[in-house]
Parts: sequence; structure tokens; C-alpha cells
Amino acid sequence: MKKAINQLLDIDNFFSGGFAVKGEGIFEDFAGAKNEAETETISRPAETKGTETELSKTEQLEKIAEEVKVCTKCSLSESRTFAVPGEGNPDARIVFVGEGPGGDEDKSGSPFVGRAGQLLTKIINAMKLSREDVFICNVIKCRPPNNRDPLKSEKDACRDYLYRQLAVIEPEIIVALGSHAAQELLQTDTAIGKLRGRFHDFTIKGGTETIKFMPTYHPAYLLRNYSTENRKKVWDDMQLVMQEIGIKS
Ligand code: URA
Ligand code: SF4
Repeated sequence: MKKAINQLLDIDNFFSGGFAVKGEGIFEDFAGAKNEAETETISRPAETKGTETELSKTEQLEKIAEEVKVCTKCSLSESRTFAVPGEGNPDARIVFVGEGPGGDEDKSGSPFVGRAGQLLTKIINAMKLSREDVFICNVIKCRPPNNRDPLKSEKDACRDYLYRQLAVIEPEIIVALGSHAAQELLQTDTAIGKLRGRFHDFTIKGGTETIKFMPTYHPAYLLRNYSTENRKKVWDDMQLVMQEIGIKS
């Protein structure tokens, strides 16, 4: 427990101060609310109507979430407490996609709220963003028993929900957290270590727009392999995202 607390404090330092800013003092207030000017530069004007239907983006995402909550398309529906559709800004410019809910997420119905989630929140904050600016979701919407890897049949059954969410939000950038999300969305079996570090092109099925796609290590992997080298790699990836979106680091 003590180790876990120290680790979290360390992460705090790593993504908020010392390491991230290299003494340039740029992120000191990252934990606080963003000021008005920053909010303006990172959000885009809200679109009230979706392009394909008369529903707003919020309503379309709610509709998908309602379907997910009662979904029985695979057997994970039998063991879940709550399905975890995802949450965040319907007009998000960045969507973070993880693997699937863990124990804390299954109990709450919200994505990335456990230890890995706390680290993800710190990473997002270090990018001068808040969770409310972005959208956070997973490839698989229900927790696999004992957090085992999702099966191919489960990913196949669940795929449509994630693609529909992405089609509604139309983000400029997708950050894939870990190999499951990266490999699922890029339809590849290349290792995450080889995929990360650069943007890939991603097109939503049936869509024409190319979305920039950044694979990076999963925060749970970072917690298990807690080296400066690994954290720096994730931070390098996120700085590319910040540059692309126009956030000065
Ligand atoms: N890990 C994930 O991949 N997703 C979550 O929502 C939580 C932990
Ligand atoms: Fe439905 Fe996906 Fe949950 Fe399976 S994991 S029951 S497909 S929402």
C-alpha cells in the first residue's frame, strides 16, 4: 500500500512538474482549472446537430450508451455489474480508447476510475486538458472475468459500439491505450512498442475523413513497468498529440 501511494506521488511529480517541464515551469498549474483562454484554444464549437440524424451528438452518444447498458450480445453481459459505455465531451477533439473495464469500472459504470485511470487522469492533466475536454472509452464495454484479455468473439460482438461512438464524435485524434486498443483499431498484430511514437492514419468504416491515431502504452502497463524510460515514451507520444492539437508545451 505504501509503495502504491509513493508510486502515485511519483507519478504526480512525473507528469506535473520535474520531468514533464524540464525546469521550464510550463505545467505548474496543470492540476488547477484551465483558464478561459486555454479552454478556447482546445475546444471546438459545439455542434448541436449530428450530421446524419436529427439527434445532437450528446443524444446520439446517450442512445449508444443506453444500448450498451442492456446489451447481451456476448457472455460478458452475464458477469458484469455495470457495462461501461464511456464518457466525456461529445465534441472532444481527442478520444482515448482503452482495453476494457476493470473491477473499479465494473462497479461504477465509468471508464478509467481505478489506479490506471488515476494515472490516465494525470497524463491528461499534464497535457493541460481535463477529463471533461476529452472522451474516454474502451474497446470492450463489459469487464472480462478476472480481468482476462477480451476474446476475439467478444471484440467482434462489441466492435460496433466503439465505431459508432467514434463516428458521432469525429475526433481529430484517437489515442489508443495499450496493445488491445491499438491492434483492434488498426487491425494489426504488430507489438505496441513498434506502433507507438508516431501517428498512424485511421478511417472510420464508411467515413472519408482521416483521423490521426496515436498508439501508446496503457497506463496499467506503466504502473507495472514503472521506469523513467517508459514514462518518457508515453510523454513523448502525448507531446506529439499536444503539438498536433495546438497546445503549446
Ligand atoms: N483499463 C482499461 O483499459 N479501461 C478502463 O476503463 C480501466 C482500466
Ligand atoms: Fe455487449 Fe460489448 Fe458488453 Fe459484450 S462486452 S455484452 S458486446 S456491450
